[in-house]
Amino acid sequence: MVVVMEERASEEQIQRVIAHLVEHQFDVHRSTDQLRSMLGAVGGVRSFDARLIEVMDGVQEVARITEPYKLASRTFRPENTTVPLGEVRVGGDEVIVMAGPCSVETEEQIGAAAAAVKNAGAKVLRGGAFKPRSSPYSFQGLGEEALRLMRAAADAEGLKVVSEVMDVSQIELVSRYADILQVGARNMQNYSLLRELGRSGTPILLKRGISANIEEWLLSAEYLLSGGNPNVVLCERGIRTFENYTRNTMDISAVPVVQKLSHLPIIADPSHGTGLRDKVAPMARAAIAAGADGLIIEVHPDPDHALSDGAQSIFPAQFDRLMAELRIIAPAIGRSICLEPAAYRGWGT
Ligand code: PEP
Ligand code: MN
Repeated sequence: MVVVMEERASEEQIQRVIAHLVEHQFDVHRSTDQLRSMLGAVGGVRSFDARLIEVMDGVQEVARITEPYKLASRTFRPENTTVPLGEVRVGGDEVIVMAGPCSVETEEQIGAAAAAVKNAGAKVLRGGAFKPRSSPYSFQGLGEEALRLMRAAADAEGLKVVSEVMDVSQIELVSRYADILQVGARNMQNYSLLRELGRSGTPILLKRGISANIEEWLLSAEYLLSGGNPNVVLCERGIRTFENYTRNTMDISAVPVVQKLSHLPIIADPSHGTGLRDKVAPMARAAIAAGADGLIIEVHPDPDHALSDGAQSIFPAQFDRLMAELRIIAPAIGRSICLEPAAYRGWGT
């Protein structure tokens, strides 16, 4: 942190600021030119609030030069983190695609979705069992029955499972069925949930809050990491802006920004990011081209009759085509992506 003192700051005011910093365990380095003094403060207690210095007499400006999050930052860990979901690794060379319906509805629906996304090259099946709906009258999810159906469908296809946990009371149950627990956008700042998930051994998919800036998002990741859970994957899913043509504004620039600030893997959700079926593939392609470690996409065997988010869910055939396009884009930027399972089958014979 650098503290710039006002030109007319008295020596007494400067000494008061220095004393305050030292009291909070900072090492203070003072430099003075003809006009003013600058104080470079290094170290200090983690929870220090820089505004306490900003409001002191004689202080002109305080510039923070280190991030408020530590464990999530690249300074703390320069190399990329990879998060294992069994043999699937998120954050390595391979782009990982998670796909499936917004909500698990029936055995037939999740079975058909699992077969379709597996056939196109997805590695993880998505599906909500507990749904955070804006209206209390909307479909809220089938709960444990959904988890059971999804696990069976995923196992039949050799897929991993991602599902949302909305409340501390659901952690144990969802962890029994899912390989990675989603924290939804609406819960990104549910700190009691984050604290409890920090104590869990299950990987976490942390979505960006609807109006969260990147620093707040990384601070939420810090809750998970500081609680002892190193397996955190970030997910950009669009933020609320003044634009209302799309459901949210998909912030693709968050991908390279986060990759500079943090070692954690980051994937993108173009389904919630746009809310419109025909916008999903273009934004998915853009996210991979921008360097995202993967995608999470809503795919439904009959999207026009989906119980949630049908308008942004793509048909299996559209997902198939998208995966074929990603097989061109990913290698162009030095990433690998799963070959078509059909191709694997060909090799095996
Ligand atoms: C979802 O994945 O279906 C979902 C509700 O996501 P978000 O929290 O990003 O809105
Ligand atoms: Mn959804």
